[in-house]
Amino acid sequence: MGEKIITRFAPSPTGNLNIGGVRAGIFAYLFARHSKGEFIVRIEDTDRLRSTKEYEENILEALAWLGLEYDRLFRQSEHAARHEELLRKLVAEGKAYVSQENTEATPSKAKESPQKGGKGRGEVIRFKNPNKTISFDDVVHGSISFETAELKDFVIAKSFTEPVFHFAVVADDWDEGVTHVVRGEDHISNTPRQILIGEALGAPRPVYAHLPLILGPDRAKLSKRKGARALTEYREAGYLPEAILNFDALLGWHPRGEEEILTKEQLIELFTLERVQKSPAIFDEGKLLWFNREHIKRLSDEEFARRLEQFSSTSVNPALVPLLKERVQTLRDASETLQSGELSFLKEAAVYDKELLLKGAKAEGPDVQKNLSRVAEMLGEIGVGDFTAEKVTEVVFPYATKVGRARVLWPMRVALCGTERSPDPFTLAGLLGKEKTLERLGKAINMLQ
Ligand code: GLU
Repeated sequence: MGEKIITRFAPSPTGNLNIGGVRAGIFAYLFARHSKGEFIVRIEDTDRLRSTKEYEENILEALAWLGLEYDRLFRQSEHAARHEELLRKLVAEGKAYVSQENTEATPSKAKESPQKGGKGRGEVIRFKNPNKTISFDDVVHGSISFETAELKDFVIAKSFTEPVFHFAVVADDWDEGVTHVVRGEDHISNTPRQILIGEALGAPRPVYAHLPLILGPDRAKLSKRKGARALTEYREAGYLPEAILNFDALLGWHPRGEEEILTKEQLIELFTLERVQKSPAIFDEGKLLWFNREHIKRLSDEEFARRLEQFSSTSVNPALVPLLKERVQTLRDASETLQSGELSFLKEAAVYDKELLLKGAKAEGPDVQKNLSRVAEMLGEIGVGDFTAEKVTEVVFPYATKVGRARVLWPMRVALCGTERSPDPFTLAGLLGKEKTLERLGKAINMLQ
């Protein structure tokens, strides 16, 4: 047995978790589960000014909704004492030093984080750069080399109690035993710095896998305003978490073979870092909607009903479920269709209007009556268990084609629902079932007497 694989997802709670940002979490999760390893979530709240509890809650809620369960959860701020200990150790060993600087040297930092607790203004801790070439083998990008001399003696903390992000990341990855750092390509340029810090601390170097950029269909970077909406917004728009998981997993990775619709279990089974691509992934909302529709179709009727009830906080008539499942792209669509009353005919007895029955048939009452009677006769011969929309089509359609479709299908449809607009008569018959269908046809026939 090789060493146990440990990955982490390290979001900063400075915004809601968005559909692009979670991709790193999904890849780290899939890789860990595929390898029977461990998946850590670490909330990187070292930036105290921009981090909020609300964002942290949004992140954890979105991860739970997606089904990315973690083995361990950390908050970076909880490790403050350890960070301070390590900073002091590096300084004591001469691998870092405290530098008194005028505020001009680090204007933005001084502004962002006014010094507290009597620490001298402009004091920073700098890393003593050994000025060497750092090379690492990125699983996705291959071998990368970097002359670290150009980084000079970079800042690793604003004070002993305020490590910068690079330092905290390296310390935590080490302490948490992270073996594989799976994150966005935008962090490649941070890696040499982090490797130097890791070497100074004596930490083993993790394997790096930097995921390709995610671009919009116009090949522009996704931004908060464009394309990168929060996962919780997608939930409210009626998307299924499995659709998002599936869609995101394919942003820069694809399995062997053609199949695109994959469950979480399949993704875990198929996922390898070796198949992550280098070239940018394209984020296409239309594709996401398609995934959602496909995943909706694959839910059992019971499961769809359960999700819809949860989504719309109302109970759902089971008779409507197959029809809704067939037609909608999102749970919101389904909820709106229910509210629109478009399908109320199924619950309530149809109320007939003789004129409406004849209107679209463009035929006289006796004629229409005869056609409906014939339809009723033919449908009477179908067994209750075989009474599906397909079967009804098979039986009625040739007849309607022979005598005139409008003359048969219009009155049949109105007889089944009583309204001007509805799904086609075959769908209606399939939904209503044999007994109700014959009952409603019978009523319409009587009315035309
Ligand atoms: N907290 C960083 C971010 O949200 C991630 C750091 C990392 O993955 O190493 O971008």
